[in-house]
Amino acid sequence: MGGSELKYIQDAFDTNWISQYGLNINEFENQLEKYLGNNSFVTALSSGTAAIHLALRMLNVQEDDFVICQSFTFVASVNPVLYQKAIPIFVDSETSTWNMCPNALEDAIKYCLQKGKKPKAIIVISLYGMPFMVDEILEISKKYEIPIIEDSAEALGSKYKNKLCGTFGDLSVISFNGNKIITTSGGGILISRNQSDKNRALYLATQAKENRDYYHHSEVGYNYRMSNISAGIGRGQLEVLENRIMKRRENHEFYQRVFQNYEEIELFEEPNDDFFSNYWLNTITIEGNNFNITKEKLKEKFSKNNIETRYLWKPMHLQPLYKDYKFFGADVCGTLFGSGLCLPSGTNLTDECKDRIVNVLIKIKK
Ligand SMILES: *Cc1c(COP(=O)(O)O)cnc(C)c1O
Repeated sequence: MGGSELKYIQDAFDTNWISQYGLNINEFENQLEKYLGNNSFVTALSSGTAAIHLALRMLNVQEDDFVICQSFTFVASVNPVLYQKAIPIFVDSETSTWNMCPNALEDAIKYCLQKGKKPKAIIVISLYGMPFMVDEILEISKKYEIPIIEDSAEALGSKYKNKLCGTFGDLSVISFNGNKIITTSGGGILISRNQSDKNRALYLATQAKENRDYYHHSEVGYNYRMSNISAGIGRGQLEVLENRIMKRRENHEFYQRVFQNYEEIELFEEPNDDFFSNYWLNTITIEGNNFNITKEKLKEKFSKNNIETRYLWKPMHLQPLYKDYKFFGADVCGTLFGSGLCLPSGTNLTDECKDRIVNVLIKIKK
C-alpha cells in the first residue's frame, strides 16, 4: 500500500458511502480519465474480467459469433467470450512484443470471412506491460472494420509512441487485481471513447435498471460496479503509481546488467524507442543450452534458494479448455512458453534480494 488508502476508506465510512456510490468512485474515475487523457471515459468495475465481459456485451457479441483473441495471455482475457457463448479464434504472438502477430491476425480474419461471419471484436493484450504493435494492429482493425478490445490489464502506465495503454482500443480494460502494478484489492476499469458508451457500461454494470421510479428491466445486466471502499484504495494507490513504475523499471535495469554476461539467456525488452513498458514483470527466455539449463531446472535452483519464479502464461490454444478452437500462427507463443520464466519483479525488491538472485545465477555458469 502507498500510505493514504486508509484515509480514503475512512472518508467512506465517515460519510456512510460504503457501497457502489460515493466520492471515492467518482474521484477514482475522474483521476484516471485525466491521467489517461486522449478522450478516455472510465467506468470503475469489480474486476478486469468484468470489464472484458462488458466490452463484449457492448459490442453485441452473441452466441456463435467469432471473437479474435491473442492466445498468449491469462485465461481471464478469453473466458468472457465463452460467457457470451461466442467462439474464440486464437492468434499467435510475434517475437518483438510477444503480443498479437499482425500477419496471423489477418489470416484469422480471412478465415472468418470465408466462413461468412465477420469477427465481432479483436481482443489484443499488452502482456507483461509491453504494448502490442499498436499501429499495425489498429490498421488491420480499421481495414476490416472490426473493433478492438484492448486488454491492458497488466499495462497501466505503459506507452506506445508516448500514448498510454488503455487509450488504443474502441474499448479498453485495465485491472486493479492484487497482483497488478497498483491495486484496489480487486477491481478493474472499462475505458470507452465517448460518454454514451460510458453510460451504457454503467447501465449494464448496475443490473440494466432503467431510469424510472420503479424497477424496470428490458435486458439482462450485471452487478459489476466497483465499491466505494475499493475505489478509496485505488485513490491512495494512484498517488504512488509513478513511483511504482519507476521501481519496476529499475528492476528491469538491474536484470539488464545481470544478463549482459549471459549469452544463452535473453531478457525480454522494449523492441525500440516507440515502446515504453511498465515492466510489470521481468521475463527471460533460455535460448541456447551451453550450460544445459532448462526453465524447469532454473526455476528449481531459484526455488531451493527460496526465490519464487513463475512460468510464462500458458497459451490458450494449448489449454484443455480451448484446444478445440482454431489457432493461427507458427506457435511462437508455445515456444516462448517452452523456454521462458518470470523473475521476481515486485516494487519491494531490496538490494539484498537482488544479491540473492545474482548468486543463484552465478552458480549456473560454473
Ligand atoms: C489480471 C488480468 C486480467 C483480469 O483481471 P482481473 O481484475 O483479475 O479480473 C485480464 N487479462 C490479463 C492479461 C490479466 O493479466
